[in-house]
Amino acid sequence: MKAVRFTAYKTFPELKEIERPAPGPGEVLLKVAGAGACHSDVAVYDEFEPGMNPLVDPEYTLGHETSGWVEELGEGVTGFEVGSAQLVYGPVGCGHCPACSRGQDTYCQNVAEMDYAGIGLGRDGGMAEYVTVPARNLVPLGDADPVPASALADAGLTPYHAIKLALPRLNRAGAYALVVGLGGLGLMAVQILKALTGATVIATDMKPEAMAEAEKYGAVTVPSGEDQVARIREITGGRGVDAAFDFVGIAATARAALDSAAVQSRVTIVGIGNGSTIDWSFLSTPYEAELVTTYWGTVEELHELAGLYRDGKVEPLYTTYAMDGALQAYRDLQDGKISGRAVVVP
Ligand code: NAD
Ligand code: ZN
Repeated sequence: MKAVRFTAYKTFPELKEIERPAPGPGEVLLKVAGAGACHSDVAVYDEFEPGMNPLVDPEYTLGHETSGWVEELGEGVTGFEVGSAQLVYGPVGCGHCPACSRGQDTYCQNVAEMDYAGIGLGRDGGMAEYVTVPARNLVPLGDADPVPASALADAGLTPYHAIKLALPRLNRAGAYALVVGLGGLGLMAVQILKALTGATVIATDMKPEAMAEAEKYGAVTVPSGEDQVARIREITGGRGVDAAFDFVGIAATARAALDSAAVQSRVTIVGIGNGSTIDWSFLSTPYEAELVTTYWGTVEELHELAGLYRDGKVEPLYTTYAMDGALQAYRDLQDGKISGRAVVVP
């Protein structure tokens, strides 16, 4: 079968012919419906240095954002109907530590014993015709279209997790949220904020097309530029935003998010732009503002998000690419040419 392989650091992926995998004990073989191309893949193959994170060392098939249909059950697996549509929870931890037990494989406490970080991150992922997945990582999709659903697995789940943790700041009258960077994750964030909170959503990107999409989801947009923070503060009546989500994560965007933050707000850095150090001192910071990073989400949250999708409350914006065009999807992602998510449909 064809697969998009990450072969070496600082090297663009390759489309290769590999053998179709067989499900091991406790695993399920999925026929892939859709696999999203995430900017984190670009960070891994383009920017990571060998030794930075051995869990994602090559070679393997990319695609940590996958949906598919059950093709075959591995030894010991029951309760899944062949042909049923499933979403894949990507992180894979030990499965039995306290973090994994609460469905948070992202923060597995036995990570030192693991060989990979997740499906499509150190272990073969969904940018192929078939993928094997531990049965506990499957989230049923019912009758919902599995192709756009693939984008929920990361572009949806990561903002969903970050937003849920910020709900105490947002679920009050007159709350404001700020979303910086309106690509795969950011456009999902706008929709999730609208679905879960009554907050006014302020959104920004360098691309006018991306801001136009955010406006369709009900966001108020503010272009980049010198007066951006002043404009955001003006919209909030001078108070600043109660929660900010930075889906770029470079020094300039983190600074804009922090400078827009209200007293007792929460600023979440999601983008792995790895800017420079941030001045976060007593006089430069609003009182009791929290600054956090975040990584992906829990399997329970993916069940919740799949429910929102099945109810029509969130709908990823996406463009499909055939397997032969999968590398083009990554090129377009790198060139900033994609609206929402690029989804490879093998
Ligand atoms: P994307 O390429 O689809 O979207 C990025 C968006 O940011 C684009 O619309 C781009 O125009 C915009 N942008 C870039 N620089 C900007 C700037 N200076 N000001 C305003 N807007 C700017 O990327 P994505 O797949 O949505 O990923 C977003 C980020 O989140 C990436 O850094 C990715 O690695 C990271 N990510 C983190 C996690 C996590 O768990 N923390 C999970 C997935 C992705
Ligand atoms: Zn990702």
